[in-house]
Amino acid sequence: MTTSASVSVGSEDAIARVGTVTDRVVEANKQYAAGFGDPGLGAPPVQQVAVVACMDARLDLYPALGLQLGDCHTIRNAGGVVTDDVIRSLTISQRKLGTRSVILVHHTACGLETLTEDFRTELETEVGQRPAWAVESFKDVEQDVRQSMRRVRTSPFLLHTDDVRGFVLDVRTGLLHEVDPA
Ligand SMILES: [Zn+2]
Repeated sequence: MTTSASVSVGSEDAIARVGTVTDRVVEANKQYAAGFGDPGLGAPPVQQVAVVACMDARLDLYPALGLQLGDCHTIRNAGGVVTDDVIRSLTISQRKLGTRSVILVHHTACGLETLTEDFRTELETEVGQRPAWAVESFKDVEQDVRQSMRRVRTSPFLLHTDDVRGFVLDVRTGLLHEVDPA
């Protein structure tokens, strides 16, 4: 039972309160589109950069990195892990859309630090099927950034692996801390 569908019509902040979150997103989009002017951008990112980051809700990547609409590709998943699917996106990004640099953004207090590979066993016990994917949990965020950088640098599919840099973003201060790849 939920009360999230309760309405408060007439409120000046009605968009924030009416309907489900998706209803509110659709309403917000109408306002966004009303103020949107076609910037005339092409698909290739202007700054020729791909950012691989955690999906964490506290990472507001564009302002945090000083990037604008059209500047970069953003590839996100739980942990900002360089999985086969991230390599797939990076390969398309570099070979078909002209990016040359890769920026990896992990962060403090990541949810993956609280998980272990036991999560797969828990799932298997509950649903009777073991996921094919690894959880990719970690205890040391800097070590995980290093591993991610290595995965990008050693991928045979990528054209550009000379400018791959990894960072940990502090969700309390907003500051990036660069991780030494060594
Ligand atoms: Zn995270």
